[in-house]
Amino acid sequence: MIKVQSLTKKYGGFTAVDDVSFTARPGRVTGFLGPNGAGKSTTMRIMVGLTPATSGHAEVSGRRFADLPNPGLEVGVLLDASAQHAGRTGREILTVAAQTMGLGRGRVDEMLERVSLTPSESGRRVRNYSLGMRQRLGIATALLGDPEVLILDEPANGLDPAGIRWMRDLLRGYADQGGTVLLSSHLLHEIEVIADDLVVIGQGRIVAQGTKAELLATAGTLVRTRDVPTLARALVDADLEFSPTTDALRVDADPDRVGQVALAAGVALTELRAADGAGLEEMFLELTADTQRDHNREGVAA
Ligand code: ADP
Repeated sequence: MIKVQSLTKKYGGFTAVDDVSFTARPGRVTGFLGPNGAGKSTTMRIMVGLTPATSGHAEVSGRRFADLPNPGLEVGVLLDASAQHAGRTGREILTVAAQTMGLGRGRVDEMLERVSLTPSESGRRVRNYSLGMRQRLGIATALLGDPEVLILDEPANGLDPAGIRWMRDLLRGYADQGGTVLLSSHLLHEIEVIADDLVVIGQGRIVAQGTKAELLATAGTLVRTRDVPTLARALVDADLEFSPTTDALRVDADPDRVGQVALAAGVALTELRAADGAGLEEMFLELTADTQRDHNREGVAA
């Protein structure tokens, strides 16, 4: 499993990762979700020893990455699919990696087949690969040593919908056999379909974590009425918190309670239902909006 404890990374006065703690468990796909610039890559780079932490630490299979004798056999890593040697062919990259790990050439063919790179594709230089092909090659490299843990940074970038489905099935199968998968994404829906557990990060801090089911269940109730002012007053009187969505109200209470309040206030409802992830989506949109505001501010300052 992967354990991250109170990880902090500062660049001068700027805190890129701020006291981040979470665990990714065997048999589960853990989605690491956050808008661009939230601190996902930095956290993952620290995990695999590429960036030193300012404080805190990360463990993979009970040890720091640097203390693993043959890391490739324990952790498969895909951090930046475009960072592969552009002048080598896909097959050469896999062969070099296999030799470093002490694995036979047969394993290379097996992996090429597993990620559906044809012999003609694997014989081409990586500079001529599409981003999707680079991602497949990166995943093949990560899987090469048959590790128990996978750490993948934005592996779905550049994959078409069929590619995303392929990756989802591959990671599901891997986790079902007891593997631990941590994958990052800046897209909520992409991660929602793949992950069992979610860790949500914004501006370097963890803002939510739990099983996907838990996070979706805390969404409250969506309610619609033609008489919003009366319903809003009744919700305030009942001490229920709510927020407007584009064309409805989202209330922090279950549908039964919201229905009772509306009935007591004599308000006719046009819709009343569990919000199914609307809370998660709203939270994520707020995080994304904050990040964009920051970018704008930086833009103005520049
Ligand atoms: P994400 O992967 O979530 O998009 P990153 O971890 O790449 O986010 O970046 C988090 C923040 O840290 C960003 O604001 C980024 O600009 C900053 N950052 C990353 N690397 C460095 C660095 N080497 N020096 C200064 N700031 C950095």
